[in-house]
Parts: sequence; structure tokens; C-alpha cells
Amino acid sequence: MLATRHGKAEVIAPALASLGLAVVATDAVDTDRFGTFTGTVARAGTMREAARAKAIAGLAAMPGAAFAIASEGAFGPHPQAPFATADLELVLLRDRAGTFEVVVEHLALEARAVSRVVRTWPEAEAAASAAGFPGHALVVRDGAEPSVAAPPRAMLVREPHDLARHVAAALAAAGAAVVANDLRAHANPTRLAVIRAAAEALARRLAATCPACGRPGWHGRAQPGLRCAACGEETALPAADLFACDGCGHERRVPREGAADPARCPRCNP
Ligand SMILES: [Zn+2]
Ligand SMILES: [Zn+2]
Repeated sequence: MLATRHGKAEVIAPALASLGLAVVATDAVDTDRFGTFTGTVARAGTMREAARAKAIAGLAAMPGAAFAIASEGAFGPHPQAPFATADLELVLLRDRAGTFEVVVEHLALEARAVSRVVRTWPEAEAAASAAGFPGHALVVRDGAEPSVAAPPRAMLVREPHDLARHVAAALAAAGAAVVANDLRAHANPTRLAVIRAAAEALARRLAATCPACGRPGWHGRAQPGLRCAACGEETALPAADLFACDGCGHERRVPREGAADPARCPRCNP
């Protein structure tokens, strides 16, 4: 069972079919009340908490479902490339009893998330093109403030002939318009692809079971510190993978082979 109104089921369901999980989408849950990208409803708490709240509401709405899947996305500066906008997608699976919960996060730069202030039609056309319009839907707002807070008039635009009309109206009303991607999944195919990748990561994690207790969700995390081949200094490259079970707490550290290229060493190549 998947609590979504925004067409995510078509990418999440195939990813989990390999595990024998049949995903049934429901629109019985108004997921927009947990926060929206147009800024009309602020998201309460963390992404994980928001996804958990959606999953719990979904289970309540579908008494026959054993598990719920919910997804949450957020756009912001990429941690390693602050001028690039990254899409962080979280997918959560939870059981009805609340004793089993697995979460994965996937960070990607592919999703279109353009937001530009324009003052002429050619600028609006260039912004629309950068946003992947018309394959991606747009939001056109009055004014010169590219914030997510929704002003009185925020028009959703899917058709090319509507773009000129809404931009002209915004320019006439405010002298400037914001042309931005509609970030909702069903309106943004590149974001939908990132959600698919997150769902595939969830499927891989669920397919791995803890060697101690058998619980699905055995997962690894790279640990930095691989030693330099020339001087032996620790580098930022992964030295090992630390695998862990969120159920019983069992851990296993698996060292990586080899040594770090001195070009990546803080002492040999500072
Ligand atoms: Zn070195
Ligand atoms: Zn375990």
C-alpha cells in the first residue's frame, strides 16, 4: 500500500515487485496535508517523520494492507556542490504493528528544479526551456521573489499556449514573474526518476537480511580512512563498509581491498 496522490506508484511498484510486494496505491490519504511543494502547507518535523505519518495514515485507510510505503522529497543545495540544486528522496516502508521500519535516502542532481525571475517573454521562454517544459510542468507566479511561499496567484502551467498567457498576466500585474518547475512528482519526470532510484535502493535493502536474526534491511555504510599507498596517511576514501541490523543491532565491518592513490592523499597531494 502506498499513500500517494502524485503518481509515484508507477515507479515504486515495479521496484518492489521483485520482492513479491504488491503495491496498491491509495488516494484515500490527502498526502498534501503533510506538506506541499507550493508552500501552502508547511511540512511538520523531519522528512522521515513526515513519511512515517503518511504511512500510518495510509495503513489506517486500508485495513487489509500489511505494510505501507511512503515517500518524501526535498530540494536544496547539494552538500558537495552548494550551487547545484539536489533532490533528496526518502522512501519508507513500515508494518502495521510499527515494529518494522526501513528507510532509504537517495540524493541526486538530475531532477529539474529551476526557479527564475523573468521580466521579458524571451527570458520566460529561456527559463521554461531550462525547466524542461513542456515535458515538465511549470509554476508561474507574480513578482520577483523566487521563494517557495505561495503568493496570491501561482498558476500551474502544462500547455505551451498557457505559458505566454500566464507570463503576460504576471508581467502586467507585477512587472516580473517567477517561472519555476512544478516539483510534484507527477509533474516532474526527472524527479520521478529519482524516486524510482530510491525505491530500487529500498528493494535492495529489503532483499538483504541480517545474518544474525534474519530481519530484512541489512545495510552497509562506507567508512572513510583508506590508507595512502605512498605514505600510509588516512584519506577520505572508504576503508571499510560497516554493515548493521536495525533490529538486533548486529554489526559487521568488511575492510576494502587495496590502498589509496597518493593523488587523493592529504599529505602527498594537499
Ligand atoms: Zn600519502
Ligand atoms: Zn539482526
